[in-house]
Amino acid sequence: MAILVTGGAGYIGSHTVAELLDRGEEVVVIDSLLTGHREALLGGKLYEGDLRDKELLKKLFAENEIDAVIHFAASSLVGESMKDPAKYYDNNVYGTLCLLQAMQEAGVDKIVFSSTAATYGEPEKVPIEESDRTEPANVYGETKLTMERMMSWFDKVLGIRYVALRYFNAAGAHASGKIGEDHRPESHLIPLVLQAALKQREHIAIFGEDYPTEDGTCIRDYIHVSDLADAHVRAVNYLRSGSGSNVFNLGNGLGFSVKQVIETAKKVTGLDIPVAVQERRAGDPAVLVASSDKARSVLGWNPSRADLEGIIASAWSWHSSHPQGYGDK
Ligand code: UDP
Repeated sequence: MAILVTGGAGYIGSHTVAELLDRGEEVVVIDSLLTGHREALLGGKLYEGDLRDKELLKKLFAENEIDAVIHFAASSLVGESMKDPAKYYDNNVYGTLCLLQAMQEAGVDKIVFSSTAATYGEPEKVPIEESDRTEPANVYGETKLTMERMMSWFDKVLGIRYVALRYFNAAGAHASGKIGEDHRPESHLIPLVLQAALKQREHIAIFGEDYPTEDGTCIRDYIHVSDLADAHVRAVNYLRSGSGSNVFNLGNGLGFSVKQVIETAKKVTGLDIPVAVQERRAGDPAVLVASSDKARSVLGWNPSRADLEGIIASAWSWHSSHPQGYGDK
């Protein structure tokens, strides 16, 4: 029996595929390769195409014996979602509907879903718990919450069980040095800081230093991508063991400010990193930190690469050896 990974050629998807292969799982991937990279796949059988292509999904489920699905494929840029909501509803919500329909037809009853801290919006309190209010502040977060809710109804009505994993800030790269983060365009803090260290950009912009935090910059919970990958494998096994649907936060429970990230990157790289303070970015809450107690106790998840310096060092070893990302090849 194989595990189907949608969006398996993307950043978190490819690290999860690597983890599954390491554990001897058979892997089938569907990826449009619009934002994913063929080179990011360390194995598995690739179907190149879109989830909204119902014929392709039908063929994939007919040709493979799929035990469970891990669903990453989605558009994930907050800024873009606020300019083009239709793209997000179409690709994310309609794409997930097509996937769930295909699962229903094929009799596949387990799905692990890539969700996000953006489902919470401005938090009521930190650390954030899964039962806290969900009030997304952007279209991206809203579509992810809609997808979670859709899955919950497919469970109630059809018995397709799901685990939604709400990630905080994914960072770092695989220990093999073979795969890492390569978004185009890049919008995430840690890769941008490292690009500034490599002089690929003039400076790193700090989006606002007037937040109500100690140094005035936003605080986030950075989590190593391989710890996220490990949580996905645990979530599949949790569903395989017969457990019911559930939602888990994935973070370290530690907050670091934008300035702390930049200072740590200077230390890790030994390079100067020029900064330019700019206006706040729309839709950024001041502090986002996870309580991951539930994932720890229920899934037995124990993120083992928790310290910021280690996470940035891992990202740096990828970026410094692949300054053009997968484009190097
Ligand atoms: N950020 C920044 N400069 C950048 C990119 C990001 O100051 O060039 C800040 C951003 O405002 C946020 C934090 O860094 O407070 C993390 O942003 P990122 O886009 O990496 O992840 P997000 O928290 O939006 O998921």
